[in-house]
Amino acid sequence: MQGNPHRAEVRLLGTAAAPGVARATAYLLQQGRSLVVRRRVDDPERELARLEVALTATRAEIAQLRADVARKLNESEAAIFDAHLLVLEDVALIDEVTKEVRRSGYNIEHCFETVAQRYIDIFAKMEDDFLRERAADIRDVTGRVLDQLLGAAPAEVGPVAGRQVVVALDLTPTETAGLHEAGVAAFVTEEGGRTSHSAIMARSLDIPAVVGVKGLMAAVGAGDTLLVDGEAGLVIVNPSAETLATYLDKEQALRTRRDRVMGEIALPDTTADGAAFGLLANIGGPEEMEDALRCHARGVGLYRTENLYLRLDAWPTEAEQFAEYAEAVRLAQGRPVTFRMLDIGGDKRLGDLSDEANPFMGYRAVRMCLERPEIFRPQLRAIVRAATFGPVHVMFPMISGIEELRKAKEIFRQVEAELAQEGIRSAAPIRLGAMIEIPSAALVAAELARECDFFSVGTNDLVQYLLAVDRGNRRVATLYDPCHPAVIRTLAGIFRAAAAAGIPAAVCGELGGDPLWAPLLLGLGAHELSMTPAALPEVRFLLRHARRDEMRALGEQALASASAAATRGLLQGFATAQQKSR
Ligand code: PEP
Ligand code: MG
Repeated sequence: MQGNPHRAEVRLLGTAAAPGVARATAYLLQQGRSLVVRRRVDDPERELARLEVALTATRAEIAQLRADVARKLNESEAAIFDAHLLVLEDVALIDEVTKEVRRSGYNIEHCFETVAQRYIDIFAKMEDDFLRERAADIRDVTGRVLDQLLGAAPAEVGPVAGRQVVVALDLTPTETAGLHEAGVAAFVTEEGGRTSHSAIMARSLDIPAVVGVKGLMAAVGAGDTLLVDGEAGLVIVNPSAETLATYLDKEQALRTRRDRVMGEIALPDTTADGAAFGLLANIGGPEEMEDALRCHARGVGLYRTENLYLRLDAWPTEAEQFAEYAEAVRLAQGRPVTFRMLDIGGDKRLGDLSDEANPFMGYRAVRMCLERPEIFRPQLRAIVRAATFGPVHVMFPMISGIEELRKAKEIFRQVEAELAQEGIRSAAPIRLGAMIEIPSAALVAAELARECDFFSVGTNDLVQYLLAVDRGNRRVATLYDPCHPAVIRTLAGIFRAAAAAGIPAAVCGELGGDPLWAPLLLGLGAHELSMTPAALPEVRFLLRHARRDEMRALGEQALASASAAATRGLLQGFATAQQKSR
């Protein structure tokens, strides 16, 4: 591909949404649909009946799409469409449309579009990133309803000629799923952020993407050459010959590296000087087990059981839980599956949980489990029954001290005895662990370690509670700094306590899958790291090429550093030195 000699290079900076570099011609996505005309109608009730038909057809269309995505991608991606179905059930929206039709006497297409646009505008102006990005979801769903009313075919991407870079104002999840099918090289959007569903999807589809690129639509014309750097969040329109040459090198280096990493995907979890470590997967349902096995996870280190509750938006029965857990254990083919007991509360709200001023410090996880045996016991029963199919571990989230651990263990033992009386016994003894994610637990880790079989450190929460920084609050996001010396020293203390009691310690928070952090965690004394399956190959590669004694030295240095900046420097220095030596 040639740089465009006629138009000057333009560089646009956006938000890096999915890594990778791609270069191809621009494909400007036309997102228009048939024009909605306004006309007077005689019978508003007839219009409302047409809306009912369109809503039913749209529901069926989304359900079909959901099933397709679940089959081709996975259940978590498909769950996005559950949110779409909820838009269709939004009583306030439908009420407003009904009133508009009766009040104005105009056709349903016009009234529906007017109200839908009002909703989209409200969401698009919201402060919160997550809520703002829901505007794309509403546009997607209400657009489908309009298509039904107008008798148009549902919006589709394509045909994209070969591998092109799709350029759009914003993309709906439906359109993003279509991009994958069409085999596009990358996508860039003017709107959207890292947490928009299309960005989340891009990461799991492995399509380089940059979102939130101000001025994109005005800067790009059909046929322009685009260079997309999904890591830097950079879009280069009509790159010069020099830029292309630089990027050719970068692309080549990335490809070579990726091939090397994937080439070692099945090699043992052993450091360069022969020390064993264990890499495990974090999953949220049996459908993610395939990814975990493909990336050679040694087992599941964190099974987020609350996903089933959130998916059903209700308390699932023992039978529903058993069906899901048993499938996961069977699919794991003898590898251990660590079920984390229900961790609902905090930012994961459900049903009858009351509103709290401080939900992250409120009625959450094991606090709720211990108080509500009608929820805790069926889940324990389901897990013990699933353990008849293979090795299972159980861990209790948000343990703050020894009493909670003892109580949780006692209920577990009762349930186990009850099932034994019914003739149900696990295939292997079930190991019981404590999640260490509250500072008080870290401080009494020595006592906890003597009374459980393993530790799993939830760094996502541990950092927020140690530093008193809400993990979801954008305003204090820069203060959420795991390099803070307090975090390093707390982690070292936890690992020391585990070692003294002779139990293994894993890290299942996001730090475990961070290439910069993995060597430090092992250096500080972690035995296992559990992470999203996609992160496994890179972390395995890094650790296999590092020496245990060097990681230990890194741990010592980090423990001695007085500031977060100094720790960051150490981590970066270690990564650079490793890169050079490989
Ligand atoms: C954690 O807190 O690090 C963790 C793994 O649990 P979650 O992110 O689900 O709270
Ligand atoms: Mg947690």
